[in-house]
Amino acid sequence: TLPTSSSKLENAQAILKDVFGFDSFRSTQQGIIESVLEHNNTLAIMPTGGGKSLCYQIPAIVFDGLTVVISPLISLMQDQVRQLVELDISAGVLNSSLSSDEYQNNLVSLKNGEIKLLFLAPETALQPNILSLLQSIHVACIAIDEAHCISEWGHEFRPEYRQLDQLVSRFPDAVTVALTATATPRVREDIKRQLNISNESEFIASFDRPNLYLEVAPKESAYAQTKTFIDKHAKQSGIIYCQSRSGVDDLTTKLKQDGYSVLPYHAGLNNQKRASNQEKFVRDDVDIIVATIAFGMGINKPDVRYVVHYDLPKNIESYYQQIGRAGRDGDDADCLLLFGYGDTGKIRFFIDQMNNEHEKRLATMHLNQMLALAETEECRRLPLLQYFGESEVSETCVKCDNCLSDDKQKSDLTVPAQKFLSCVHRTGQRFGAAYIVDVLRGSNAEKVLQNQHNLLSTYDIGNELDKKQWIALSRQLIQKKLLRQDEQFGGLKLTQLATDVLKGKVPFYAMLQQAVPEKRSSTSKS
Ligand code: ADP
Ligand code: ZN
Repeated sequence: TLPTSSSKLENAQAILKDVFGFDSFRSTQQGIIESVLEHNNTLAIMPTGGGKSLCYQIPAIVFDGLTVVISPLISLMQDQVRQLVELDISAGVLNSSLSSDEYQNNLVSLKNGEIKLLFLAPETALQPNILSLLQSIHVACIAIDEAHCISEWGHEFRPEYRQLDQLVSRFPDAVTVALTATATPRVREDIKRQLNISNESEFIASFDRPNLYLEVAPKESAYAQTKTFIDKHAKQSGIIYCQSRSGVDDLTTKLKQDGYSVLPYHAGLNNQKRASNQEKFVRDDVDIIVATIAFGMGINKPDVRYVVHYDLPKNIESYYQQIGRAGRDGDDADCLLLFGYGDTGKIRFFIDQMNNEHEKRLATMHLNQMLALAETEECRRLPLLQYFGESEVSETCVKCDNCLSDDKQKSDLTVPAQKFLSCVHRTGQRFGAAYIVDVLRGSNAEKVLQNQHNLLSTYDIGNELDKKQWIALSRQLIQKKLLRQDEQFGGLKLTQLATDVLKGKVPFYAMLQQAVPEKRSSTSKS
């Protein structure tokens, strides 16, 4: 290595210790910082909480000149500036929340070279007056936070981000560092192409959170399942995520009635109420927060011991973000996802309402990735990490239901599978699982009678399994690709593999969990 680069690194290490008070870099931080200091445009992909900020803050301190930090949210910018100023690093923002005095002061400090880090929203950075101001001073580095917003393949595309290449091209001498916690391979390619970053300058930290135990349970009696789960964590802090505000309110009320220490959080509550509920949670005045996805941004509570997904998240992205709020302190935490096909139906319905075809396809793809995680019989970490572009799980996982379960013995379910498949066939491959189960179990539901499906040979031949077990079996049939669900209407259709099972050429082995989660002992609260 050249003497200059090693002395730069020593300098960076000194800053890490003297300014930030940390002993060593975390996994990829060092490589990223070295790369930026070498003036290579760099892409840093790191999970939330991984330590992205240091990757531009330290170079900003090393470089002569200004580092411009592009960030999408005013509230986050102000947080960052406050934290930097507390560390005695000169940082500022230019945005509409400033008084005109503050704005003018910041302009003067900038022109005098007194600010090391300037935080700007993308649309501000592209304003002609701001651009010419920046061109009149020395910009050493452009850091683009939440860089996935640049890609239409991401989950948070922002058109203003698309134009950032214009900003970058105005400052050919400045090095660009793009940072994000989201990185499907496609989004990564987009970022690299638009910001002129080479593959060698891409750094991906592992997204695995080894201290999180991941479990997915069929959603059968959601409330009882949730109580059993949280009773194992009495007096600990936990978050329960629901899809809707009314879901949050209902669940909060029930838990309160049953004596739990719980508060709600969603966008329908006024700011004051939200802030105070969050505060009480952070201060341990309340054990449980029941929340929509509105909860969690920017809260830093290290000892959240569990996260429950009462409803299915729309995509792996949100699932990962939300479980990621547990176990920040590195101690073990428990994550439970209650998974029911009703939720899938609701999300599909939502997707159907979308007007934009591109968004629709994307949302469907994201939902399918989520389903793959919920339905897998392999390690839960596989689909999770694959989503973030990691192809294998580094260590043997002992922290997910599938890897731990030896009680989930597979049994020969060929006959029930044949019954189910045959019933799908005879009803014309148009119906969802619940309907097929009705026919198999001899239901007198009006729809069944109207369709005259009570006359079929597969009517009322399925009393060996209960309703929930049949539904579970249907999931396995889908997962093992004997059935596929019609994207548009949700009807089940047979595949070639199904024919083999129907003809008895291939047996069907699967595991059927006991429908009711009574295995765990529960200490009941009343
Ligand atoms: P991100 O932006 O990736 O979500 P942050 O930059 O906010 O993460 O960092 C998360 C936390 O980790 C912060 O509290 C930060 O001070 C801490 N941190 C970052 N790097 C280190 C390090 N090398 N050693 C110890 N703590 C670190
Ligand atoms: Zn596992």
